[in-house]
Formats: sequence, structure tokens, C-alpha cells
Amino acid sequence: QAKHEGRNRYRVFEPNMKTQVEESMALEVELRRAVENMDFKLHYQPKFDMTTGEIVGAEALLRWWVGGKPVSPVTFIPIAEETGLINGIGRWVFETAAKQVQVWSTMFDLPDGFRISVNMSVQQLQDPDLLDTLSDFISKCNIQSELLEIEITESLFLERTEINLRNLAGIRELGPGIALDDFGTGYSSMGYLAQLPLTVLKIDKTFVDNVHQPQGSAIISAVVALAKGLGVEVIAEGVEQEDQAKKLIELGCVTAQGFYYSQPIPAEDLEVLLEQSLLRLAAPLEGTTGSS
Ligand code: C2E
Ligand code: MG
Ligand code: MG
Ligand code: MG
Repeated sequence: QAKHEGRNRYRVFEPNMKTQVEESMALEVELRRAVENMDFKLHYQPKFDMTTGEIVGAEALLRWWVGGKPVSPVTFIPIAEETGLINGIGRWVFETAAKQVQVWSTMFDLPDGFRISVNMSVQQLQDPDLLDTLSDFISKCNIQSELLEIEITESLFLERTEINLRNLAGIRELGPGIALDDFGTGYSSMGYLAQLPLTVLKIDKTFVDNVHQPQGSAIISAVVALAKGLGVEVIAEGVEQEDQAKKLIELGCVTAQGFYYSQPIPAEDLEVLLEQSLLRLAAPLEGTTGSS
């Protein structure tokens, strides 16, 4: 009787929960299959100097399709992290992006400081073999490691383990820069921030969204000042509108990525943009120069 009642009460919540769990289990099966052949792609979102329209780098973003339909990394990265699949996937992402930028460095006269960034989950940073794996690959493939950058998030602040700090320091020694992604949304402690071997602060989209509000612009000015004080670069994420770009420049942030400039795009498409940027065949992006 009680059992029956319980089951009835439970049923109210069941359909939803079941689909979610089933969906994520089905995705896990698909993900394991995809990992076997590394059935993924990288897209690249260019980063721009908003005052000149020049491309100064790009972020590699993982893309995965199931049955022809894209699955968002917001959905499958957490599954990859929970299952440990992220380590293999992350290695593939790093190697693919590294080989790509190596090719671009021979095709193009890349500007000073040009870097391709890859996102790295905290699980990867806790891998004791990370540095060996990276340095073996870098030397085997003759990678110019200063063309690379690792993006980490503040979830790292919850895991202040020695291995994290050692791996981060080791990555810097190997050559790649280190960007703190989604900055301002997480668990930053100012003291800890100064201990990290960072080269870039990435201002999260939520602050860019609010750049026209007093609170938003105050935060962005503060991050710009902080970056200057720490001697690191600053970049704004998620710029969607021209007036946001203008306001960011006013506040001292000149580098940005966002749909206003470009979506994440396949490597071939980025090559076209890079060529334009480097040869300056195209006029600087409309509305982003101070000259008009
Ligand atoms: P993220 O590293 O903060 O990447 C920026 C996300 O914002 C990307 O979403 C990008 O497409 C999106 N974005 C860029 N500009 C705009 C804009 O103007 N407006 C809006 N609305 N969105 C914009 P995406 O590609 O879906 O990736 C989501 C997150 O998944 C990433 O956030 C990152 O945390 C994670 N991710 C993606 N690729 C990888 C990877 O290779 N490894 C790991 N560990 N995580 C990854
Ligand atoms: Mg990122
Ligand atoms: Mg981000
Ligand atoms: Mg993010």
C-alpha cells in the first residue's frame, strides 16, 4: 500500500527525470563511441583588436555532432568530465589546435603575440602526467609552444591542490600562455589570483552584456586596472553589438571576441579571415575604428 502510494507520488516527477537521465546516458554511450575515432571537430573564434580590426588570435572550441545534429559543449563537456573521457578528448583538442597553428605559422606572417587558445578542464589540470604528455608532444612535433594558450576557469580555485599549481607553472615553462576564462563569475580570491602564472584575464560575457550600466562599466574598469596591475592582458568575451565594442574601448579594453566580430568557424574559414586581416585587403571592420 505504502509502496504503491509512493510510486504514485513519484510518478509526478518521473517523466522529466527519466528523460534527462536517459538522455545523458544515451549521450555517454555516443560520446564513448565518438572518442574511439575522435569524431570531433574544432572551430575557431577569432579574437580582434577592436581599434584596428586586426585578428590577434583565436579560441579553439570543440564541436560534436550526433546523427547530424550539433550537441553543445555545455551539454557534453560535463559528461566527458564526469566519465574521465575529458583527458583523451582534451589531449586531442590540444594536439589538433597545436598542429593547426603550426600550419598557420608557415602559411601566414602571424602578428607578434598571436596565440591559439584551448580550453582545459580542471580534471586535465589534475592529471599528474599532463606535463610529460604536453612536453613529449611539443618536442616530437616541433611545436612553437608560444603560439598556444590554455584557458582555465575559476573552478580551479575550489581545487587549490599542489598539482594544479605545479601543472600551471609547468605549462608556462613549456611556453603556452594561461588565460583565466569567464573571469568574475566564479570563486576568485585576489590573493590566489596573484599566485597563478596568468598571462590573460578574460572578462565574462555577463559583464559585457551590462557594459552600459554603471555597475557593469565599473566592473570592467576594475578588471582592466587589475590586469594592468598584474601585468597581464585583458580580453572581453561575448561582444554582440557595436556600441558594446565602443564602450569597451573607452574603458580601456581593446581586445575582444564575440558574435559581432565572428562566430566560431571552421579552420578553412578562419584562414580567409586571417588572410584579409594580414593583407589588410579589407577595410577595418565597420564601426570599430576610431577614425570614422
Ligand atoms: P568558453 O570557453 O567561455 O567559450 C565561449 C563560449 O561563448 C563559446 O560557446 C562561444 O561560442 C560562445 N560565444 C562567443 N561569442 C559569443 C557571443 O557574442 N554571444 C554568445 N551568446 N555566445 C558567444 P561554446 O562553443 O558553446 O562553448 C561553451 C563552453 O564549453 C566553453 O565556454 C567552454 O567552457 C566549453 N568548451 C568548449 N570547447 C571545449 C574544450 O575543447 N575543452 C573543454 N574542457 N571545454 C570546452
Ligand atoms: Mg574559453
Ligand atoms: Mg569564456
Ligand atoms: Mg564558459
